Amino acid sequence: MTKEQALKKYFGYDKFRPLQSEIIDTILAKNDCMVLMPTGGGKSLCFQIPALLMDGLTVVISPLIALMKDQVQGLVANGISAAYINSTLTGSEQSSIEWKAKLGELKLLYISPEKLLSGNYLNFIKSLKVNLFAVDESHCVSIWGHDFRPEYTQLKALKANFPSVPIVALTATADKVTRKDILTQLGIPDAPTFTSSFDRPNLSLNVLPSRNRTRIIENFIKERPNQSGIIYCLSRNATEDVALALQRVGIRAAHYHAGLIAETREKVQDSFINDDLQVIVATIAFGMGIDKSNVRFIIHYNLPSNVESFYQEIGRAGRDGLKADTLLFYGYGDVIIRTKMITDSELPEEMKEVQTAKLTRLKQYAEADICRRRILLSYFNEEIREDCGNCDVCRNPRQRFDATTIAQKALSAIARTEEKVAMGMLIDILRGSQNRNVLERNYHQIRTFGAGRDLKGEEWAEYLTQMLNMGVMDIAYDDHHSFKLNNYSWSVLKGEQGVELVKFEPYDTKKARQDAENPKEKSKREVIRDALFEKLRLLRKQLADKLSIPPFLVFSDATISEMAQKKPISRYQMLQVSGVSDAKYKQFGEVFLNEVLDFIRDNNAKGVARVANGSTYIETLDLYKKGLSIEEIATRRNLQPSSIANHLIKLSEDGHDVDITKLISQQEYDAIVDMALELGMNKGDALKPLFEALNEEYGYDKIRLALAIWDKNG
Ligand code: ADP
Ligand code: ZN
Repeated sequence: MTKEQALKKYFGYDKFRPLQSEIIDTILAKNDCMVLMPTGGGKSLCFQIPALLMDGLTVVISPLIALMKDQVQGLVANGISAAYINSTLTGSEQSSIEWKAKLGELKLLYISPEKLLSGNYLNFIKSLKVNLFAVDESHCVSIWGHDFRPEYTQLKALKANFPSVPIVALTATADKVTRKDILTQLGIPDAPTFTSSFDRPNLSLNVLPSRNRTRIIENFIKERPNQSGIIYCLSRNATEDVALALQRVGIRAAHYHAGLIAETREKVQDSFINDDLQVIVATIAFGMGIDKSNVRFIIHYNLPSNVESFYQEIGRAGRDGLKADTLLFYGYGDVIIRTKMITDSELPEEMKEVQTAKLTRLKQYAEADICRRRILLSYFNEEIREDCGNCDVCRNPRQRFDATTIAQKALSAIARTEEKVAMGMLIDILRGSQNRNVLERNYHQIRTFGAGRDLKGEEWAEYLTQMLNMGVMDIAYDDHHSFKLNNYSWSVLKGEQGVELVKFEPYDTKKARQDAENPKEKSKREVIRDALFEKLRLLRKQLADKLSIPPFLVFSDATISEMAQKKPISRYQMLQVSGVSDAKYKQFGEVFLNEVLDFIRDNNAKGVARVANGSTYIETLDLYKKGLSIEEIATRRNLQPSSIANHLIKLSEDGHDVDITKLISQQEYDAIVDMALELGMNKGDALKPLFEALNEEYGYDKIRLALAIWDKNG
């Protein structure tokens, strides 16, 4: 089998993504290598295909227990023999898997590093015919990465113990120090590195000021019914509050964080994966190892700690390559909290510096007024030649204006209130609101009271946030968030320095969505959410529930979207749909074919509409057109020849191009019709007497055909 054939047969895909093919060749030539691809880039296939093509067993080292289970389930669903060994297995489960491995019945074995390096487990591995080690999430070996795991550092033992077995290290990590460290730590310093583009053009990028977050999120989700999404929050409390707010408006949401008991966490995660739950509101504890390919949006309620984490988290959307949206809420409060977290941490000074620098890079992304994708990709050492057209800045280019007067009004009010007020109160003063808090403190008597009436409250909030982000003034986190003046503030007040701000644009979720769906940019990679898609989605859910597997393991969104578009009505056409592997067809193909056919019939589409009872006829027709005999069709379809004859007769009656006279010889026809005449048979009589009168020499299929032709000829 070639690698292309394996791709089609086991995964149902027609083409390799960039670099997959080269990586596979390198591994097949028994060379070590490193693979850098973004989350969702398609790393797994790079070792799964070699595993299928080589003799022996591929050992995959993965730190994430949930991920192992998902990947193994996915492989098994595609008819590949794979298993995992980790601490969740019972002793007997484990030994049964070990036996399978010993007997050469496994192609892939996933194993956690703790297990692999415990006791003398390596000796057991040595007794197997290992053809490849794949080290997934390999950045965990490096303290420079963002997710260091001490147990990973012992993986050096692999090369030492198995000098001739190739190692492939896989990661989505950005920085060069970490990449180099990975190779050194694994003892393969000179291995070639394959870096694919980190661009995920299907992800839209959006940043909003962090005001009215809950309301914006509610609208955002309501415009995306039935679409799965994750909302990331910094604190556990926030996850609970946001989830509750969403539940109140009827959204199927739940919270998730490390403080929940394991059972609850698992339940929430499962119902999300199974599409029972639409939205998960979570801390970063959620998502590692979630392979769900149909996540359609990621919202960051708070600012993450660095670009890697941010990119990894948004990377969980749109793994199927279809359009997905990301939304980051950005405000000064989060920057302060993040900075404080770093300062207060017990990290050595140099690592604090690294983290602060990493946070600054993310701030630059959030504050960008040029294409956001350019900024992200430049972080990953990549350049794009054009603006992306799929971020909020590209869609809505920023307008800067001279805001010196606005800034002076605000700073003056801060000065006159003796730097004691926070955002809300300051806005009230500027807008001249006569509320109790203002009156009690006599703020209505200061000179700037009402000086900013011309701007709406939300405009002020936006501009004050921008000013904070630019450092035009400070905020005292430990003094009720009150604003404080700094040197920059004073020079603005004195007129020595000007301030430029970006024009406020009210956020309109509906418009944003319409923009995104603007037909002129509508690519064919978008989910086709029509009636048929919905039917197929529900069918997928039913099948998945029955089998207790996640719906995306039945078929991905991309696959059912393509089915809805192409409307396959035969086995052959179904297998052309990307993502329909041989094993998947065997298991689900017919059911989905029937659904498509029902749909076509209900909608009374042309052509196939008149065929009664669905796919079974169409499939027979397909094979007939390929020139197969009744016998061959029957064997292929695992049906009786007489049923196939029936199909063909019916198809011919329905006006399809089926010449039933070709399916029977003149001699057979004569013999059968003569006997029928002799018995004085009429249309609709039982066939058994005729069958017996002919000494059982002619099958029911032939009898049916002969009578049909006889009938047709009058
Ligand atoms: P990663 O491990 O890099 O995060 P995965 O290996 O999980 O990414 O792949 C992401 C998705 O892309 C999966 O649904 C996978 O089946 C799909 N995929 C991978 N390679 C191809 C390909 N050549 N054609 C179509 N889909 C692919
Ligand atoms: Zn852009």
